[in-house]
Amino acid sequence: MKENNCIFCKIANGEIPSATVYEDEDFRVILDLSPASKGHALILPKEHYANLFELDDELAAKVLPVAKEVVSKMKEILHCDGYNLVQNNGEVAGQTVHHFHLHLIPRYEGDDVGIQWKPGTLSEEVKEEILSKLR
Ligand code: 5GP
Ligand code: ZN
Repeated sequence: MKENNCIFCKIANGEIPSATVYEDEDFRVILDLSPASKGHALILPKEHYANLFELDDELAAKVLPVAKEVVSKMKEILHCDGYNLVQNNGEVAGQTVHHFHLHLIPRYEGDDVGIQWKPGTLSEEVKEEILSKLR
């Protein structure tokens, strides 16, 4: 399924041109228009899924192999020192385009890409609360 007003549906299916670094029958991988670092790319499924929770399981299983292939190739040409894979779900988590996508963000020694958080402390109470609710 495609969604009419979804920019990533249009890009993934070639209706809007994009800087495509990889394509197969299920995915298009494009360079991000506002990159966090040189080579920042996005894996887009050609079908519309708003987020991870909607993503089809069979397709989900194909995402990491595509990431691995693209990242391996990009590492060779970019000579980066590392990679972050980031995937936002929901506005509070920073999702701005509601069509599932996985960010592939090359990292370079000394860059100022700010993917970090302030480490907290896992209390016994919270740990027990979560584990007991999962049982
Ligand atoms: P999100 O914040 O939803 O996880 O990430 C959306 C990403 O899509 C952002 O990094 C943003 O720069 C990128 N983006 C938004 N619109 C376009 C577009 O039209 N073309 C490309 N190539 N990237 C886009
Ligand atoms: Zn879409």
